[in-house]
Amino acid sequence: MILPITAYGHPTLKKVASDIDEHFPNLNILIENMFETMYAASGVGLAAPQVNQSIRLIVLDATPFEKEHPELSGFKKVLINPHITSLEGEEWAYNEGCLSIPDIHEDVIRKSTVQITYQDEQFNVHHETYSGILGRIIQHEYDHLEGKLFVDHLTPLKKILLKRKLTDISSGQIEAKYKMIFPHLKKKR
Ligand code: ZN
Repeated sequence: MILPITAYGHPTLKKVASDIDEHFPNLNILIENMFETMYAASGVGLAAPQVNQSIRLIVLDATPFEKEHPELSGFKKVLINPHITSLEGEEWAYNEGCLSIPDIHEDVIRKSTVQITYQDEQFNVHHETYSGILGRIIQHEYDHLEGKLFVDHLTPLKKILLKRKLTDISSGQIEAKYKMIFPHLKKKR
C-alpha cells in the first residue's frame, strides 16, 4: 500500500524518533509499504517520519545510482534503530533532494564517512561503515530520525531565499507527483 508522505513543516518531521523492538505491531507490513511508497515516488531512501511514524526505521534502495556507481547495484537495506557511532572524513558538497520537500535541490556539505550500528529485520545487530554516495544517503535519512531536514544544513541566507517555496510546500501550494500530508493546507482558489 502506498502511504502519503509528510511534507515540510509537518510536526512528525521535527521529532527525534524512538527505537522499536520486535513487538512493534505489523512491522513487516510497514516496511513493505515504505518500499512501495519510496519506489512510487522514485526515491532511493525513505525514513519512517516521512510516512508519519516517529520511529527509527529507514528503507534504502540505491539501484537508481548504479549507472554512475556500479558498486551500488542491488544495494537494498532496512535499517532498524540506526545510531551513528562516528562521523569523519573530508567534507564534500552534493546536490540533495527530499521526498518531503518536492522540487527543491540544494548542495549540502557533509562528512564523507559514517559508522552506524543498526538492527536488521530479524533484529540482529550490525556495525557498518559507509562512505561516498551511500554515506551521503544514510546521513540524509538518519537526519529524518533526528528531526532534521537537508535544508537545515543550508546557510541562513540560503534558507531565507527558499522561505517562500518552503511555505508553499507546507500549505500544499505545489503539484506533487505523489500523495502527501500538508501540515498547513490551504484550499486552492
Ligand atoms: Zn529526505
